[in-house]
Amino acid sequence: MNTTFHSTRGFSEELSSRQAIRQGLAGDGGLFVTDDLGKQQVDVAELIGKSYQDMARTVLGVLLPDFSSSELDECVRAAYGSQWLESAITPLKPLGDDYILELFNGPTSAFKDVALQILPQFMARTTSDTSEANERVMVLTATSGDTGKAALAGFADTPSTGITVFYPEGKVSEIQRLQMTTQTGSNVNVCAVKGNFDDAQTAVKRIFGDNDLASKLEEDNYVSLSSANSINVGRLVPQVVYYFSAYVQLVERGAIKVGDEVEFVVPTGNFGDILAGYYAKKLGLPVGRLTVASDRNNVLFDFLTTGTYNRERPFYETTSPSMDILVSSNLERMLYYMSDGDTELIASLMDDLQSKDSFTIPDSLLKRIRGLFSCGWADENQVSRAITDCWNVNHYVIDPHTACGYHVLSQMFQETAMPRVLLSTASPYKFPRVVGKALGLDTAGTDFDCMDRLSEVTGTTAPKNLRGLEHAAERFTDVISIDEMSDYVKAASDRL
Ligand SMILES: *Cc1c(COP(=O)(O)O)cnc(C)c1O
Repeated sequence: MNTTFHSTRGFSEELSSRQAIRQGLAGDGGLFVTDDLGKQQVDVAELIGKSYQDMARTVLGVLLPDFSSSELDECVRAAYGSQWLESAITPLKPLGDDYILELFNGPTSAFKDVALQILPQFMARTTSDTSEANERVMVLTATSGDTGKAALAGFADTPSTGITVFYPEGKVSEIQRLQMTTQTGSNVNVCAVKGNFDDAQTAVKRIFGDNDLASKLEEDNYVSLSSANSINVGRLVPQVVYYFSAYVQLVERGAIKVGDEVEFVVPTGNFGDILAGYYAKKLGLPVGRLTVASDRNNVLFDFLTTGTYNRERPFYETTSPSMDILVSSNLERMLYYMSDGDTELIASLMDDLQSKDSFTIPDSLLKRIRGLFSCGWADENQVSRAITDCWNVNHYVIDPHTACGYHVLSQMFQETAMPRVLLSTASPYKFPRVVGKALGLDTAGTDFDCMDRLSEVTGTTAPKNLRGLEHAAERFTDVISIDEMSDYVKAASDRL
């Protein structure tokens, strides 16, 4: 099938999925979408009894039709192998009357591994056959914590590719910092930046828009820049697979029959995780309801209750840093599909966001969205209490991001007996101090002391990739100003 991708804001570019993955963001600032989404359905019944890898081959085959099945097979094998702690990759476990889908059993203990283990595989297959043989890509990412490490782990030692990660100095947890600064690999670069995450993110966007730098990189080294952020099609589509996997696991444990509807509660920041659930529904998965769970930065809650998205509001640094987001980028894709592909509407809403810091959608559209999406949020006390409650009631330890979802789930009015699945996005061992505090443990000493106490009291084991950081060698100690980022990228590209 000859599927093309274009911007959510217009049709000036028509690309294959390969090109869309390589390019990342559309030239007009929009996100790549295809109008073929849902034309070819996935038959869930045929997935029962299949491995995660088989499900991935089927689902990705529909979403990325210009990749051959042998290419997808290679990508899937490389991404979902023994680097995962469980053979189910994303195991579903009972949680009281509900279920929890663990997305954090990958190499960096965050759900971003699901996408970032496979994105480098896709990226490596996007260079055109006719291109210069030594064409290379430098992947640039600003991170508030989890994305950076997952991207480093995914791209480390990938041929013809470099990865550069900027993180805000002093604003990521000690564990998150060590995860990045100890990263091995000959093509990786990690650098602290003086400023907050938004400053670093804005500077990275500016570097992407810097045509002089782009032509210099191209001329000197045949290097082009790309992004590993969650707006990339190649990061979104792998996440669709675990919704199918969750459903299949529910069928296999006898909780539902094929065709029954299921609802999902999703800790949300940039709207990538939950959008993948919407894509799964468009592919035919019986999804009854999708619930957005936010932290104190509840811009999506306000949007879904009033129809007005307003980013001019205080920014809170919470214990769930990966959800501390005021501009939720992937929402644009949901609005595109929910408005039946109205590119003019989307372009004008995004103009409003740019010029007035807010936009308002038509009532009819809000009503339609609310027919599928519901929402809730948790403040810091509620997050802490959710961690405590979940442990007391279910003897299951959750991290502060998942706790936002747990709080929302426990507040939800259950109208039907539809099974509910909470998506769990990080290992509690990534945030041992916050989790330990919530459980009333002694939090004196280092984060590693906190990990050990959490382990003792709960009878769970810290993932080796996290516990082992205490004695790993730090490779990257650079701290630079925002103004120096562009030169840093140039120097890193020269070394590639
Ligand atoms: C990135 C992240 C989220 C938010 O996911 P989105 O796709 O951005 O909505 C939630 N929890 C954790 C732990 C994350 O790393």
